[in-house]
Amino acid sequence: MKQIPHYWAGERTLGESARRARVFDPALGEAVAEAPLASVADVQAAVAAAQAAWPAWAATPPLKRARVMFRFKEILEARQLQLAECISREHGKVINDALGEVTRGLEVVEFACGIPHLLKGDYTEEVGSGIDSYATRQPLGVVAGITPFNFPAMVPLWMIPVALACGNCFVLKPSERDPSASLLLADWLAEAGLPAGVFNVLHGDKTAVDALLAHPDVQAVSFVGSTPIARYIYETGAHYGKRVQALGGAKNHMVVMPDADLELTVDALMGAAYGSAGERCMAISVALAVGEVGDALVAQLAERVRALKVNAGTAPDAEMGPLITAEHRAKVTGYIDSGVAEGAQLVVDGRALSVPGCEQGFFLGGTLFDHVTPEMTIYREEIFGPVLAVVRVASFEQALQLINDHPYGNGTSLFTRDGATARAFAHRVQAGMVGVNVPIPVPMAFHSFGGWKSSLFGDQHVHGMEGVRFYTRLKTVTTRWPQRASGAEFVMPTMK
Ligand code: NAD
Repeated sequence: MKQIPHYWAGERTLGESARRARVFDPALGEAVAEAPLASVADVQAAVAAAQAAWPAWAATPPLKRARVMFRFKEILEARQLQLAECISREHGKVINDALGEVTRGLEVVEFACGIPHLLKGDYTEEVGSGIDSYATRQPLGVVAGITPFNFPAMVPLWMIPVALACGNCFVLKPSERDPSASLLLADWLAEAGLPAGVFNVLHGDKTAVDALLAHPDVQAVSFVGSTPIARYIYETGAHYGKRVQALGGAKNHMVVMPDADLELTVDALMGAAYGSAGERCMAISVALAVGEVGDALVAQLAERVRALKVNAGTAPDAEMGPLITAEHRAKVTGYIDSGVAEGAQLVVDGRALSVPGCEQGFFLGGTLFDHVTPEMTIYREEIFGPVLAVVRVASFEQALQLINDHPYGNGTSLFTRDGATARAFAHRVQAGMVGVNVPIPVPMAFHSFGGWKSSLFGDQHVHGMEGVRFYTRLKTVTTRWPQRASGAEFVMPTMK
């Protein structure tokens, strides 16, 4: 079986642990490789490599760090198809979608190329007579990133370019379900001129994560994954005195107003609910149909969901690929069963789908429920599959209330032609990322990504200026150059 190694101190290694995770081709349902699951000693080796590389990297001028990022950007651009194919093989998403993921990650590298400007501090002359003050942001040291399966390149790239450009060393613990993309990133960073030890990849599960959280040399942890684990990472990291940003799960609602352009809305919902088989933290999993729009919306959606082209991600005409594992498909199927049992109307049932030539693959067809109510499990919980729930509501106020009452608050969107409704929505809705006639409002690299409520634990979102703040700490220096002694002062100095 092919082995996917760790990478630290500039070398590939299988480490000392004998435990392995199996990595599947989800379209065929076959194990194609294995990744080592790090032991505590492996974690210590990876962190030691990063710690050893840190003084020299922190002392490297930001402009030189930015030049490494620029060369990395050029490599990523030239080899984006290779990375997309690698993602699709282990994750299952269609190639064009994987290319989109790479582009959104690449944009963070582009943002990090501007780090000399972003790290410029503040300077004030004469904060007191003959006294000047400046504020500067300095790197933290070794930082760790723990990432989910659904974006094996983009989510690590939300973190790595900003952390490195700010002068930190990085240990990435990618998802053990699709770990190969992280090795390509490591190789290409090295090729771009990043010194050995500055970026490291450690494969593993809870053992590795717990050892990173407890390690005294790890200064900060960025996490993206499900809410229960995000909460655990935040609480445990805080216990060990670390800085933590932990992004969790989601249940993103789209409000469809009666005045919305129905064709545009249905197009938007198809991509947002079924793209990447619904395995996106910004997927729309609930459509709130306001007033009389419901019947027409469901009729048009049903026709389109039945026509979805589901196939291996590498098939040229595929619109949707398989789910990540057999266990995950069983979990999603269980949610569909529960929706039926709790009385929702199953309009399109994807459970029986079989893809010719890929009969053992982890496929599930697009599924559509109507008349879902807020008490149902399929409304309350994140499904993370190709299942869209339509909830009928009487008014905009009722739709807004449902979103604001939901424990998740990652993204949300509104489809309307009315500016006043759109403005009220953007202003009053309780979610971190809001779209108006934009189904998946993922912020660009120079803005910051993050949800509210149970979708994010911590106070800084990722990338953009929030990312720069997360990976640096502020130092304020006050200076004076007196000509002669003026005597001891025993009271607080004030400007009189
Ligand atoms: P997950 O929580 O199972 O795993 C995420 C990471 O945590 C992986 O690296 C995994 O190895 C590690 N992990 C798993 N169990 C652990 C444990 N008990 N202790 C310590 N570490 C553990 O998530 P996933 O299934 O890989 O990804 C899907 C989830 O991620 C969904 O809930 C999705 O909404 C969420 N997600 C959120 C965002 C966001 O920006 N908010 C983005 C992408 C994905």
